[in-house]
Amino acid sequence: MSFEVSATDGEARAGILTTAHGELRTPAFMPVGTKATVKMLDPMEVRSLGAEIVLGNTYHLHFRPGEDVIGDLGGLHTFMGWDGPILTDSGGYQVFSLRDTILAVDDAGVTFRSVYDGTAERFTPEAVAGIQARLGSDIAMCLDVCAPAGGARDELAEAVRLTTLWAARQRLAPRAPGQLLFGIAQGATDPELRRRSIDEIVALDFDGHALGGLSVGEARDPMFETVADAAPLLPADRPRYFMGIGDPEGILEVIERGVDMFDCVLPTRMGRTGTALTSAGRLNLKNASFARDERPLDERCDCPACSRFTRAYIRHLVNQHELLGLRLLTVHNLRFLLGLTAGARAAIEAGKLASFKAETLERLDTA
Ligand SMILES: [Zn+2]
Repeated sequence: MSFEVSATDGEARAGILTTAHGELRTPAFMPVGTKATVKMLDPMEVRSLGAEIVLGNTYHLHFRPGEDVIGDLGGLHTFMGWDGPILTDSGGYQVFSLRDTILAVDDAGVTFRSVYDGTAERFTPEAVAGIQARLGSDIAMCLDVCAPAGGARDELAEAVRLTTLWAARQRLAPRAPGQLLFGIAQGATDPELRRRSIDEIVALDFDGHALGGLSVGEARDPMFETVADAAPLLPADRPRYFMGIGDPEGILEVIERGVDMFDCVLPTRMGRTGTALTSAGRLNLKNASFARDERPLDERCDCPACSRFTRAYIRHLVNQHELLGLRLLTVHNLRFLLGLTAGARAAIEAGKLASFKAETLERLDTA
């Protein structure tokens, strides 16, 4: 693995991570392709919007269509028509966020019912390593235990203990050729547990490190404080990944604190529910005020939706449940967040992240 930090600005970093399927520039926003598709979009569009890496989901791909089908057909890159870097999560987040489906958790793994047909399934560190090896992703993630927001301290401590135990075992499991493996630190916003988890995970010597168990419903200020405390404890020569943040303010806050990679379903999910993320804030396109609005979604945006269509037209499409409307919003939302992240990267290289952040946040309030 090679990860080169090319510029820093305060705690923030700009870098390049080299994977088996090419480079990605950091900070990087990673569009989520849960079921081997970034919903609504062709992979060529995803790339043209500025994405350099996409996420796939181990839990969902394991059940449908199954890692053996994908593996036999040449792996996830070939299967989904994306030849750039892919990161797969471990499925741990899905298992532990669908708490009603959990049958048993023990030191060896977790047994749960599939959301697809209710059949019992078991994930162990070795099993999720095997699934991710078959999928052939460039970056695999460790199986972790994500405790719910506001969980009792002993529950958080147990999540930290199991996460370390499982990470140590997954590190020894076979991987796809050139596949990187990232460890995940838990501990919610508890300073002592977070530090303990980071110390234990870092000691296992992974290719990169993720902060898990954040952005799961806790208050934002303690979450950002946790990132500020955590990032300097993670090795500076490895990428740092904040799991599950994708609102413009949140992206800028974690970049400023030294995070290199992040993902979120927000831009694609918002697009499918009729909301545009713009440089001036969020627009609900169902709103009657857009009925005769001839402006683009975002006057500062260069995406195909903004360069060709009006808010009035997109509002009409959304209200008539026309697929094109949801597609155009998805295209725009992704372009906006990818452009914002690229802008932050350029600002770090110029040593001007603080002013870039201040100007961006000020503009976000004007919708
Ligand atoms: Zn746009």
